[in-house]
Amino acid sequence: MGGNKNRKKRRREERPTIHPKNKYSENPPDFSLLASLYPSFHTFVFYSSDGRPRIDWTDFNATRELTRVLLLHDHSLNWWIPDGQLCPTVPNRSNYIHWIEDLLLSNIIPKTEINRDKVRGFDIGTGANCIYPLLGASLLGWSFVGSDVTDVALEWAERNVKDNPHISELIEIRRVESGENTLSVEDSQNGRSSGSESKIQFTDNDTRYCGLPILVGVVRDGEKFDFCMCNPPFFETMDEAGLNPKTSCGGTPEEMVCPGGERAFITRIIEDSSVLKQTFRWYTTMVGRKSNLKFLISKLREVGVSIVKTTEFFQGQTCRWGLAWSFVPPVKKIISLHVAGKRNLSFMFEGLQRQYSAVDVLQSIESFFCHNGALCNLNASSFTIDISASHDHCKAILKNGEHRDIFADCEDAKDTSQSTSCLGLPINNLCFRISVFQQAPGTLLVKGSPKHGDSQASGTVSLILQRLEEVLKLKFCREKSTVNLS
Ligand code: SAH
Repeated sequence: MGGNKNRKKRRREERPTIHPKNKYSENPPDFSLLASLYPSFHTFVFYSSDGRPRIDWTDFNATRELTRVLLLHDHSLNWWIPDGQLCPTVPNRSNYIHWIEDLLLSNIIPKTEINRDKVRGFDIGTGANCIYPLLGASLLGWSFVGSDVTDVALEWAERNVKDNPHISELIEIRRVESGENTLSVEDSQNGRSSGSESKIQFTDNDTRYCGLPILVGVVRDGEKFDFCMCNPPFFETMDEAGLNPKTSCGGTPEEMVCPGGERAFITRIIEDSSVLKQTFRWYTTMVGRKSNLKFLISKLREVGVSIVKTTEFFQGQTCRWGLAWSFVPPVKKIISLHVAGKRNLSFMFEGLQRQYSAVDVLQSIESFFCHNGALCNLNASSFTIDISASHDHCKAILKNGEHRDIFADCEDAKDTSQSTSCLGLPINNLCFRISVFQQAPGTLLVKGSPKHGDSQASGTVSLILQRLEEVLKLKFCREKSTVNLS
């Protein structure tokens, strides 16, 4: 019991609570200082028995005043919202901004040629508080379109932008109109879309979104964005939203509730993204429930995104997830064997030309391994091949691949007294299975499973899969494309 408790405690302590670039990661807000500087905030600060300055987190006026003084003091932003509107906490909202900053800097996908240094984002449901555009523009100089549907959100978002003339040029607030004259996802699926190849069918009635447009019909012709972001209405009903007894962040039904909850709202963002594809380099959203995260990642697989990224945001008592995806093909990484990197034991094989079937691919995999001397046993009914490859066979398989240079360097240093070479190739036979799954027409999932799951074996199988991917692409694909789900 005690051990379990300690483990839990340790896990909690290890949790990254705040992004390292976040202004508050080293220095949390100093209530005493703020109270001494801002009399309007002073009213809400009291001192607990341990002498620490505190505010009553259940008092909306206190949390709103804290947000106001933090934005003013630390970000030189003038800001206000009317009673009852959703009140953002500045450190939490900054985390999401910095996560996007990381994504944009990461080079996972190539930079766009035009406006390389000017980042442009789209905040879906910016709210009266307009917090993301204000923070993104003031911290990082990003420009934004912030969309919303309610009069009060649009009016106050506009006010918050106008009250900050130094960044007001960077932010456009856009009203979402009902979709009469705009292209809807349904239209695009019925062939009204120009050139977009959305092949997916959205049949999930329980997650059907029936609100106003989100991206399709709001994004204008010819617009391009580096990213979109969204703090979606998380709940299905106001009852479900409840009010956290420990805090008072306000929130009206329009801000908190959407029929079908965040699952429906984000599913629509995914559907829209599969129509708009590379209009955005990154699509991102917050997700409130882990079970929804799983569901949404499976939706993303269905629509054939090229990359998925997730993160966790720990926000006081609650945990939220960040979900990002892209349709831009990722930059091919040079994987260092020394880092041993990520051991991908599968790859998504897209763009299989029509005249080829999964059986052709399976047979081609078999002849690739046989050609390099390995023993193969193909099972056409389960779409698997069992392979047994010696050290020399593995060398032959990897010889012409991406890692041949590293391989050459390593050959000299090989120490045969070990059970593996410096490449991690086995001295004894490596036994593994390759399975081929049909994901969608023209898309196969190829998986490798080492018979003995030790890390050396999976490292080698991972390298072999990379080589196999190169070989299959050359033989069967129209164009190069890889899915990297991480
Ligand atoms: N971004 C703010 C507000 C989030 S609340 C924050 O993080 O605090 C969610 C917002 O989404 C609300 O303001 C709501 O009016 C808005 N919204 C709901 N449906 C929308 C739609 N279809 N398009 C744009 N905004 C929408």
